[in-house]
Amino acid sequence: MNQRTLLLIKPNAVLHRHAGEIIHMIEESAFLMRDLKIMRFDRALAEQFYAEHLGKEFYPRLLDFMCSGDTIAVLLEKENAVRDLRKLVGDTDPAKREPRTIRALFAEGITENAVHASDSPDHAAREISLIFPHINHY
Ligand code: ADP
Ligand code: MG
Repeated sequence: MNQRTLLLIKPNAVLHRHAGEIIHMIEESAFLMRDLKIMRFDRALAEQFYAEHLGKEFYPRLLDFMCSGDTIAVLLEKENAVRDLRKLVGDTDPAKREPRTIRALFAEGITENAVHASDSPDHAAREISLIFPHINHY
C-alpha cells in the first residue's frame, strides 16, 4: 500500500545547491512527489517540529540551524515510503552511515546533515500536517 512521508532538504543542502541532486536520488528510488515548497522555519515552527528533542544538548543548535536559511519540504509517496526514505537518507550517526546515502554524500556535520526524513508513519502524519496543513490524510 502506498504510504506518505516527509523529506526536508535542510538549509545547508539548499545553500550549497544540492537540492537538485537530492531530488534526483529520490526519483531514481521510485518516490513520487505529491507536494513541494520552499520555506523558512521560524522559531515557533521549529520548536513544534522538533518538540521530541526539547531538553537535549543539541536542541538549541538544531533550532538555530533549521532557522538559518531556506528549507525545501517535499511530500513523498511510495510503498513503504517511511522505511525506504530513512534507508536512502542514511543513519543519524555518521559512523553508522552506509556509503551512497544522501547524508553520506551531503552532510557537513552531525547537525548540518542535509536532510530530514520522518522516522515512523505516525510521525510522518504529524510532520506532514505541520508543514502541509492543507493536505488530506489517510
Ligand atoms: P534523525 O534526523 O536521523 O531522525 P534525530 O531525530 O535523532 O535524527 O535528530 C534530529 C536532528 O538533530 C538530526 O537530524 C540532526 O540534525 C540533529 N542531531 C541529532 N543528534 C545530534 C547530536 N548528537 N549532535 C548534534 N546534532 C544532532
Ligand atoms: Mg528524527
